[in-house]
Amino acid sequence: MNHGTHKKHKNRDNSLSELAQKIKPLAEDIIWIQKQAKSLGIFVNDRGLLECTGCDLVEDVAIDGSLMTYHKESNDMTDCGLRFEKMDENEYRCPVCGTVLKAQFL
Ligand SMILES: [Zn+2]
Repeated sequence: MNHGTHKKHKNRDNSLSELAQKIKPLAEDIIWIQKQAKSLGIFVNDRGLLECTGCDLVEDVAIDGSLMTYHKESNDMTDCGLRFEKMDENEYRCPVCGTVLKAQFL
C-alpha cells in the first residue's frame, strides 16, 4: 500500500465524483440483482463457503449457481437438501450437529 496515493489523486476528485455519479445507478442495479439472486437461492459469493467443524457437512455451489450441501465423507456429492441456518450476521448453525460456524467474508 502506498500512503502517498491520496495526495497524488487529489486534483482528480472532480472527475472521480462525476464517475461515481455515473456508476451509482449501476451499483444500485448490482445490489438489486444480488438481492434477486439471493431470493432465488443463488449463491452470490458474498461470503466464504461453510465447512462444518463438528461433522462432515460442507457447502458448495452447484452448476446452476445455487447453494447446496453434501456430506464430505460420503461418495454422493449431490445436494443433500440441508442448509446451514443463519443465526447472526456471520454465524451459521449446522443443521446436522448444531455446531455454530463463523462465515468468512470475502
Ligand atoms: Zn455439523
